[in-house]
Amino acid sequence: MRVGRSIRHARVSVKAQVGHTMQPWLDGARLTGDHGELFEDSTDMMIDQRDRRSDEDTDMQPSSSPRVVIAGGGLAGLSLALALKRSLGAGIEVTMADPALRRDPSADKRAYAIAAAGRRLLEALGIWPLVAGEAQPILEMTLTDSSLADPVRPVFLNFVEEIAPGEPFAHMVEGGDLTRALVAACTENGVVLKAAAVERFTAGSAAVTVQFSDGERSDAALLIAADGGRSRLRDAAGIGWISFPYGQSAIVATIAHERDHEGRAVQHFLPGGPFAILPLKPGGPLGFRSSIVWSERSSEVPTLLSLDTQDLLAEVERRFGLQLGQLAFETKPQAFPLSFGVARRFVGDRIALLGDAAHVIHPIAGQGLNLAFHDAAALADAIVEAVRLGLDPGSEAALQGYERARRLDVTAMGATTDLLNRLFSNDVLPVRLIRDLGLGLVDRMPTMKRFFIRQAAGVASGNAAPRLLRGELP
Ligand SMILES: Cc1cc2nc3c(=O)[nH]c(=O)nc-3n(C[C@H](O)[C@H](O)[C@H](O)COP(=O)(O)OP(=O)(O)OC[C@H]3O[C@@H](n4cnc5c(N)ncnc54)[C@H](O)[C@@H]3O)c2cc1C
Repeated sequence: MRVGRSIRHARVSVKAQVGHTMQPWLDGARLTGDHGELFEDSTDMMIDQRDRRSDEDTDMQPSSSPRVVIAGGGLAGLSLALALKRSLGAGIEVTMADPALRRDPSADKRAYAIAAAGRRLLEALGIWPLVAGEAQPILEMTLTDSSLADPVRPVFLNFVEEIAPGEPFAHMVEGGDLTRALVAACTENGVVLKAAAVERFTAGSAAVTVQFSDGERSDAALLIAADGGRSRLRDAAGIGWISFPYGQSAIVATIAHERDHEGRAVQHFLPGGPFAILPLKPGGPLGFRSSIVWSERSSEVPTLLSLDTQDLLAEVERRFGLQLGQLAFETKPQAFPLSFGVARRFVGDRIALLGDAAHVIHPIAGQGLNLAFHDAAALADAIVEAVRLGLDPGSEAALQGYERARRLDVTAMGATTDLLNRLFSNDVLPVRLIRDLGLGLVDRMPTMKRFFIRQAAGVASGNAAPRLLRGELP
C-alpha cells in the first residue's frame, strides 16, 4: 500500500459535526462527515471506478491494521461492521459510510421477521438483549388459500413448531429498534461512522481508493458494497445484475387491533399476491398490533393508496378479517415495488457485495434480511480468518470462499420465493387445486413440517453454518 502524507481522518463529536441538526439517537456517536449537510438522496451521485487521482491527495491511516470501508449502513452493513470490530478489535479499521446515518432510525416503521439464525447472530453481537424486550416471538403460522370474495378462508397449513425447546423459529422486530441498537454498538466498538456517501472508487493491486461525498478519500484493503438493491457500487464494479420486476408492490403498515394475536402469523394467499399478518409486541391505541405486508398488483396500488383512510381500512379488513376485532392504522401505509435480482458475482476487484446489493427477493417468505445476515456472517468469517493469518482480506483468495459459500444458497432461496409467488398469486382453478393438495399433504406430515421450519429458521445447515449464525463470534 502507498503511504500518504496527511491524516485528515477527523473523529469529532456529533454535536460539532451535525450542529443544529443533531439527532438525539446519535448522542455520543462518533460521526465524521460533511459539514452538517443533509443527504436526503444518496442516489444523486456519480460513481466512476475508472476515476484516478494522484497519490498526494490520498488520505491514509498510519496504521498497520488493514482497513475496510463499508458503503451502506442498513442492517446488513451495520451487522458486518460490528462483527468485524467485535472479533478483531484494534486488528482492523472499519469505516461505515452512509448519508442516512444522519436520519433518526425511528422513521423506519418496517418490522422484520428475524429467523432463529439471525437472532443467534444478534446474540453473538450483543444486540439481542437490547431489542429482545420489544421482540414478539412467532409461535404459530397459518396459511390459507382463497379468492378475495370467498366467505371463509380454510386453513391449509398450520405450524406450531419450535426449533428447540423455548426457541421459536422467528421473532418480529421493528427496524428502528434494531438500527438504533446496532449504531450505538458500532460506536462503542470503534467503528468510524461517516455520514457521507461513497461516490467513486479505484481498485488497485494492493488497495482500493475510496472517494466520499464530503471530499475525503481513503485507501482500504476492501470496499464492501452494502448500498441496497439499486447498488451503484455494484454497477461501478462492472458486476452484472440479473433482474425482473414482479409487477407487484408490497403495501406495508402497522395495524392496531382489539384482540390478542397470541403470537400467530397468518399468510393469506390471494390472487393479487400474499397478504401477511405478522404479530408485534402488544401496545398501540387498541391494545394489540400486527404488521401487514400486503402484496398487490402494482397497477392497483396507486388507486388503493389514494383512498381515504376509512375506505383503505375497509380494503385491509376484507383481507385481514375481523377475528382480531376492530382495526385501525397505527402507521401510514407505504408501498414498495417488488422485483427479483441477483448479482452475477458477489465479489470483484477489492469489492464484495453484501445484502440487497447482492440479491433482492420477493418478501413472500420474509427472508431478504435473513439472507443478508447470512452474507454478513459468511463475509465476517472470511475477513477475520484472513486478518488472523496475516493475509490480505481484500485479495481474491480471501474473498473466493465468500462467493462460493453464498451464491448457491441465495440462488436457491431466490428461486424458491419466486416459485411460491408464481404458484400462489393467481386464481387458476387447476393450479389452486394442486397447490392446496400439496399444502394439505404437508400439513399431515410432521417430519416435512419440521424440515420446512428448520429451513425457514435458517438452522438447517447446523455446524456448516458461518459462526455468527451458530451464535459465536468468528
Ligand atoms: C415489503 C418488504 C418486507 C420485507 N420483510 C422482510 C422480513 O420480514 N424479513 C426479512 O428478512 N427481510 C424482509 N425484507 C427484506 C429486507 O427489507 C431487506 O433485505 C434488507 O432490509 C436489506 O438490507 P441492506 O442493509 O442490504 O440494504 P438497505 O436497507 O437498502 O440499506 C442500504 C443503505 O445503503 C445506503 N447507500 C446507498 N448508496 C450508498 C452509497 N453510495 N454510499 C453509502 N451508502 C449508500 C442507503 O442510504 C441505505 O441506508 C422485506 C422487504 C420488503 C420490500
